[in-house]
Amino acid sequence: QALSGTMRDWLSHRVATTPDQRALIYAPTGDSWTFRELDSLVSETAGQLAALGIKAGDHLGVVLEPGVEYVRLIHAAGRLGVTLVPLSERLTPDEVARNLEIADVTALVCGDSTESTAVEATADVPVVSVDEPRWEGVINLSSIAPKSTTPAQWNLSDTMLLLFTSGTTGTPKAVRLTMGNVLANAVASSFRLGLSPGDRWLVTLSLHHMGGIGPILRSPLYGTTIVLRDGFDAGGAADDIGKYDVTGVSVVPTMLKRMLDSRGTLSDSLRVVLLGGAPASEELVERCRNYSVPVYPTYGMTETASQIATATPREAFSSIGTVGRQLFFVDLDIVNDDGTPVEPGTAGEIVVSGLTVSPGYYGDPEATADAFTDAGLRTGDIGYRDDDGLLYVLNRKDDRIITGGENVDPGEVVHVLRQYPAIDDAVVLGIPDPEWGERVSALVVLSDPEMRLDRSALDAFCREHLAGFKVPRLVEPTDELPRTVSGTIDRQAVRERLQAAQPVTEAEP
Ligand code: ATP
Ligand code: MG
Repeated sequence: QALSGTMRDWLSHRVATTPDQRALIYAPTGDSWTFRELDSLVSETAGQLAALGIKAGDHLGVVLEPGVEYVRLIHAAGRLGVTLVPLSERLTPDEVARNLEIADVTALVCGDSTESTAVEATADVPVVSVDEPRWEGVINLSSIAPKSTTPAQWNLSDTMLLLFTSGTTGTPKAVRLTMGNVLANAVASSFRLGLSPGDRWLVTLSLHHMGGIGPILRSPLYGTTIVLRDGFDAGGAADDIGKYDVTGVSVVPTMLKRMLDSRGTLSDSLRVVLLGGAPASEELVERCRNYSVPVYPTYGMTETASQIATATPREAFSSIGTVGRQLFFVDLDIVNDDGTPVEPGTAGEIVVSGLTVSPGYYGDPEATADAFTDAGLRTGDIGYRDDDGLLYVLNRKDDRIITGGENVDPGEVVHVLRQYPAIDDAVVLGIPDPEWGERVSALVVLSDPEMRLDRSALDAFCREHLAGFKVPRLVEPTDELPRTVSGTIDRQAVRERLQAAQPVTEAEP
């Protein structure tokens, strides 16, 4: 064991080095805190949690709007050696209840806007509010006299976070992320994106995801500033980048598209726009190139503490569609169905191993054994490397459509549909079909919702660009694509919509 021993939470280390550096700016008000100031708020929160009996090894649930209180809780958990379990504030009480049970949560922290959800979700664990409680039995955190605490010592193998996956392919799973996973990810990320003491990272993604909570965890390690928003709105986020001289931001493609739509371009204070979570369209990357937006397309997942591979703007602009090369400390293989590595240019399942890969799903040995194999983590994603070693992610393994014995890559069909002028966006998947096994089917967002879709013209367009068996048999317009709470396409909901819809043509593939 080369790297062993323990460490304290990074904020307590940071206070010993650059206490007067700015730690946090809350964008809606402009209020800000130095690391020293944040540290004293955090030690108060940690002391209050300790006074409530919360101790190292406990699982602390949080269902709360993003804000300073949330940041205090994140670092207080680190101070106490507590595993943080952040939950989406958009979940229903039933969903929260389910997650509390899966994750063995010992106490749940909420705020004004989430208190009723929290109360409805649980009768078994104490509910603590960072605001003035309105319900009987809810503990008012600020009324608790702090107990004095000393910073906990973390082993690299201790679980820092339990993060739920987005639930795109099924029910969300609770991913264990250790101190070692998060540290390796932070180091590898800074190697790829660069690090400057003046960096200011805008957090506008939800905090129950690595994309949102990750920068907050890394800030005391890097000594850089977080600019925190109270949620996402395209114009507001774009404006905050200019207003606070933001140098970095993590976004998903729909957010970036909306930011560019609303403001044309983004402030040139930006050094890094980390774009991930879902495939970015070629058009979006080209827009970034045309407007000199320093985009770093990235591929990652909860199970790897986020980034697995990340492209630099140079790679992104010269090889449109790539997510670049693997990060430090991970190995990435592309394998066929029997696990043998494939040649460059050939698509296969992406398998990842290394220091950022989680030890598994909490309390779910079966799902863990399925995905976390001796050869590495089976991501369930299909991709290929080009001759230069650049990675491209095509789609998920489960999404591959087999119709009449032919393999169809839904991504290719989406690409063609998006080029059709009347269509803004599309999801393509296979709907069971008694004769063909699966039927290629598409849910499409029209560029003009008032307009009727001319299906035969679309069919002719698709036939020009796609082999006959790939042409969608069923095309269903919608106002908006159904999404999960984390903003990824909710494929299950798409499937249900398409299954309920009538086929356009009964023609054979
Ligand atoms: P679940 O595992 O519950 O089905 P999920 O996989 O959507 O949900 P996340 O961990 O939030 O949950 O998302 C990771 C997934 O997002 C990846 O496995 C991949 O399918 C997709 N993804 C992330 N980045 C990209 C990208 N740049 N291009 C294509 N797909 C991406
Ligand atoms: Mg997943």
